[in-house]
Amino acid sequence: ATPTAIMVATGVGANNGVLIKGGDALERAQKVKYLLFDKTGTLTQGKPTVTAVKTFNGMERGDFLTLVASAEASSEHPLARALVDYAQHFHFFNDPSAVKDAQNHKTESTFSGWLLDVMDFSALPGRGVQCSINGKTVLVGNRKLLNEKEITIPTEAENFLVGLEESAKTAILVAFDNNVIGAIGLADPLKREAAIVVESLTNMGVKPVMVTGDNWRTARAVANEVGIDDVRAEVMPSGKVDVIRSFQKNKSVVAMVGDGINDSPALAAADVGIAIGAGTDVAIEAADYVLMRNNLEDVIVAIDLSRKTFSRIR
Ligand code: ADP
Ligand code: MG
Repeated sequence: ATPTAIMVATGVGANNGVLIKGGDALERAQKVKYLLFDKTGTLTQGKPTVTAVKTFNGMERGDFLTLVASAEASSEHPLARALVDYAQHFHFFNDPSAVKDAQNHKTESTFSGWLLDVMDFSALPGRGVQCSINGKTVLVGNRKLLNEKEITIPTEAENFLVGLEESAKTAILVAFDNNVIGAIGLADPLKREAAIVVESLTNMGVKPVMVTGDNWRTARAVANEVGIDDVRAEVMPSGKVDVIRSFQKNKSVVAMVGDGINDSPALAAADVGIAIGAGTDVAIEAADYVLMRNNLEDVIVAIDLSRKTFSRIR
């Protein structure tokens, strides 16, 4: 392709909200063999909502939700936001004085008077959060987190989790003072274009793959809905790069689409890193392509543009 052709393609991309960082990036996209999708916020809308709450040992629901929200209040994770939001609404609908308090604070988003004091907060990437409330350790996260802390997951909780995961929900456990006191299911719907994009890629000879930190059962259920066979689940944020490398063996060109802070090393390691424009700055920086419209169809646009610019048989 001539420099003019590359310039024209870059312009066409920009007009479609596809920012291409240079001619090399444009050229590599035509050869993509594997396209790895991050699940949360890339294939899915990235806005989870709570769909199920279960408490154990007679734990009161309102108290349980207050504890969970307090533990998650300092976390930036989308799951944390969903949990805090749910707890807040629960209290609005169940406690009129809380509503009045909230009104005094003008907007519900600034209303945090109901949260408990938290000490020693730490976010544990790929697992959840840990903190101390009333001198007791509180854990909110997945099985891996509870296993690490050697907390036994009762059969009742395990069965509840499996049910959620089989229906594509993300399942979260809550432990207080080394006991599992409840579990929560969250749904994060697919983007409306996700399935059609996966199908188109397959027809174009590009193999779609899902990579996620979420549980295997949840990941498989979501992958089934969207039409992806090849799934890599329970991948720690640091492990996404290793997954890319494994696909790069025998010189295959690998693209990765992602949106989160956790995804930027993987976007940089991929031959073609594609950031969703609504994603974080770090991810946008690490990528070769930025999709400004947050629409997965633009992945097809990007590959098409590269193929049309560089193929000799046109
Ligand atoms: P993804 O690849 O889906 O973006 P992450 O690496 O962000 O996944 O998280 C993986 C898993 O770790 C989540 O599915 C959840 O089980 C757990 N997790 C991470 N952060 C939190 C949190 N703040 N609260 C509860 N669970 C969390
Ligand atoms: Mg993430």
